[in-house]
Amino acid sequence: MNNLHFYKAILTDVIQISPTVRRLILTYEQPVHFKAGQFVILKFEGLNHQFDTRSYSIAGQVDANSLELCVVFKADGAATPLLFGLQKGDLLLSSLPEGRFVLPVEPIEKTLFFICTGTGVAPFRCMIKELLEERKHNLPIYLFFGCRKKEDMLYKEEFETFAKIFPNFTYHPVLSREQWDGLSGYVHPHYLKVLETTREGLFYLCGWTEMLKQTRDNIKNLGYTRQDIKVEFYD
Ligand SMILES: Cc1cc2nc3c(=O)[nH]c(=O)nc-3n(C[C@H](O)[C@H](O)[C@H](O)COP(=O)(O)OP(=O)(O)OC[C@H]3O[C@@H](n4cnc5c(N)ncnc54)[C@H](O)[C@@H]3O)c2cc1C
Repeated sequence: MNNLHFYKAILTDVIQISPTVRRLILTYEQPVHFKAGQFVILKFEGLNHQFDTRSYSIAGQVDANSLELCVVFKADGAATPLLFGLQKGDLLLSSLPEGRFVLPVEPIEKTLFFICTGTGVAPFRCMIKELLEERKHNLPIYLFFGCRKKEDMLYKEEFETFAKIFPNFTYHPVLSREQWDGLSGYVHPHYLKVLETTREGLFYLCGWTEMLKQTRDNIKNLGYTRQDIKVEFYD
């Protein structure tokens, strides 16, 4: 962490996409290259916390020099109140893209499961787009997205559009705090049902620890190994 170099990035756009989540567009002075699934580390000056950096998954590439982040507000947090207080045109300090939570380079001959809650969907937006649009992956891809309410279904229209265009992609938002005509409760019974008839799977889990640990245990109990399960913890 100490050897990291931080680059100037201008906050060029801020888009509120749910009551607590914003898309932040960061524009760097040079083109930025990343692998789907990676994150950047932002450095905050004057942060009231022992660590002055926070990591954010890359949710998309806007143009050669600009990345999109998707950040949820944490009222008692040190960094997010600062981030949410920034205006268009403000300066941030950012690392280059980091991290090994990425897709294998070689073709994937397995059913893919993306399981997340909240802003954990951000890296999956890039990974799923790459698989469908660039790699033309034609084996099944499932996205199970745990949300509290309908308003928390980040990037809903995009995933719905993918599901319409690509028959091998299925989008499963699961709501825990609002009645609706889709899947309800926690994500676990829903992906487990699909796993009853799946022979080989590769799993990507992203978000807050509690849900991910339970998911990892459930998948391991079915006989899948460490190599089959990639996890990015946000806390
Ligand atoms: C790889 C990764 C990707 C992430 N992507 C996203 C994302 O896309 N969207 C999103 O909303 N959040 C993401 N997070 C969570 C984000 O980094 C912050 O934890 C979150 O925004 C809350 O920050 P805060 O300062 O407001 O809260 P705080 O409660 O002040 O801090 C959050 C917690 O992180 C710990 N922490 C922070 N920095 C460090 C550090 N350098 N070393 C060790 N522990 C540390 C703190 O001790 C604290 O428990 C990601 C986290 C990781 C690790």
